[in-house]
Amino acid sequence: MSRKVRADIDLEAIRHNYRLACAQAPDAKAVAIIKANAYGHGAIPVARALEAEVPAFGVACIEEALELRESGIKLPIMLLEGCFDEQELPLVDKFGFWVAVHSLHQVEALEKASFSSRFPVFLKVDTGMHRLGFDPADVPEMVERLQRLACCEEVILMTHFARSDEPAEVATAQQIERFESIPGAAELGACLSNSAAVMAWPRAHRSWLRPGMMLYGATPFTESQRVADQLQAAMTLTTEVIALRDVAEGEAVGYGGTFVCKRPTRIATIAMGYGDGYPRHAQNGTPVVIHGRRAAVAGRVSMDMMTIDVTDVPDVNIGDRVELFGKALSAAEVATWCGTIPYTMVTCLTPRVPRYYSE
Ligand SMILES: *Cc1c(COP(=O)(O)O)cnc(C)c1O
Repeated sequence: MSRKVRADIDLEAIRHNYRLACAQAPDAKAVAIIKANAYGHGAIPVARALEAEVPAFGVACIEEALELRESGIKLPIMLLEGCFDEQELPLVDKFGFWVAVHSLHQVEALEKASFSSRFPVFLKVDTGMHRLGFDPADVPEMVERLQRLACCEEVILMTHFARSDEPAEVATAQQIERFESIPGAAELGACLSNSAAVMAWPRAHRSWLRPGMMLYGATPFTESQRVADQLQAAMTLTTEVIALRDVAEGEAVGYGGTFVCKRPTRIATIAMGYGDGYPRHAQNGTPVVIHGRRAAVAGRVSMDMMTIDVTDVPDVNIGDRVELFGKALSAAEVATWCGTIPYTMVTCLTPRVPRYYSE
């Protein structure tokens, strides 16, 4: 006997989603973003599932890149924020990583270092998100400095959108305009699009894409969207019923007594909690799926367990499987009940949840 929490990862769905991203911009190359353990899906298995068809992977830091190299991944790996420290540069050289540069100290570090090979350098421009990147006015000078480096095979301009998940929002159009108005930008490679822009902002496609969330099959949009509607959920999080009880009208369930039974209520306790990464902020009413039917969270999520109202689901028994999100219930829908986004639903799963892979 053991606890039956599991996340099933459908690697074929990830390949389908990657191909869907590529199909939006057939002339562009798509770096598959697998940072944060591939958004909780397992960076190494996801990289292996995609390595035959992607030009490069993208991660947040060198530790993530080294883990992939150590597991035998040979493709280029791009460090989305570049190096945090110049001591990383010898490793960049030794292991064939690609770097982004967002600040002057990174350009200076590249100027001082020596490299045995050449690689594309992604020059990050701040077009309006105001998190990372050079002011557009400084870009021509930085391009020149990078182009002088022996290690620099090509300068690719890169920027990141703050609101591309809002298809009607002018902020994204303004960011694209600022990007396009950089002197010389038209002659350089360009990498602008996260998942939402891959799906909804064709003008941002250019030569390189950086899809992340969409590879895992969750939509960044709050509404239905033509491309997002074709995504396949890669992760299905399930557990089982470990206890059942009938609770009288007027009784409260769980910590804080936040769910009070409005009728005689059948409560199923399931093995899943915030210790597994399921959000503690799930409100009463958050859906789960059992026997192909919806039931609702009733009472606060605790560390190892949570309680659901199965009054309207016939024949629930101990040991029955419950889906928290996945193929039958989208992570995006559950996220709205939890005051979050699907990104955190998958990324925040803890190591206590075993991942099982199918091709
Ligand atoms: C995480 C990240 C992405 C991927 O974003 P999604 O919304 O998951 O597609 C792209 N670019 C940068 C710089 C990122 O940090």
